[in-house]
Amino acid sequence: MRVLIVEDVAETRRWLAGIVAEAFPGAQIATAETLRMARGLLQHPCDLALIDLGLPDGSGLDLLHQIRNSGAPTVCVVTTVMGDDASVVGALSAGAMGYLLKENPAGILVRQLAQIHIGSPALSPSIARRIMEHFSLTGPAHVPECQLTERETEVLALIARGLRNAEVAETLGLAQTTVASYIKSVYRKLGISSRAEASWHATRLGLTQKDDHRNGK
Ligand code: CA
Repeated sequence: MRVLIVEDVAETRRWLAGIVAEAFPGAQIATAETLRMARGLLQHPCDLALIDLGLPDGSGLDLLHQIRNSGAPTVCVVTTVMGDDASVVGALSAGAMGYLLKENPAGILVRQLAQIHIGSPALSPSIARRIMEHFSLTGPAHVPECQLTERETEVLALIARGLRNAEVAETLGLAQTTVASYIKSVYRKLGISSRAEASWHATRLGLTQKDDHRNGK
């Protein structure tokens, strides 16, 4: 395994090399202080690249983009002190397979980094939490509301009011068998099997109020 560490601070570079050596024993580690050096070293493809964002000759994001665009299978992990949302989103959308904050203790970074072998992104706990938070706030992806037809909705509203099939048929001027098939269809679409559940859904869909005016007929 070949690992490239791109980090401009010598002490941090050594610290990260120690973390990589612990996470991937026997890994061949190359280090670069600048983007320029990193580009030179990447002539030989590496399996993993730890990339600092703030580098003397530019942003690590540029290197990340370059590696991704080259089609190389290098797994890129950003190692930075910048934990703001814009930096995280920028790195992940550029194709980073991880985002580690250098403020984390070495033990945590070793553990998160080692997970890459099982396809798990290397994320600092606080970053992972923020990503979770983001998704919990955006709510569920659009859950398709069961699409009841106008007629099925009418039938649902009536049976929710306690009308029997014959009464529903009379009210709507339909054959009882037709009403029965509408009910069947409503039950199937809502995934229910009783009138009580039908009532509950009718209330939830606001049908019980909307149809109150019919009581006055
Ligand atoms: Ca730096």
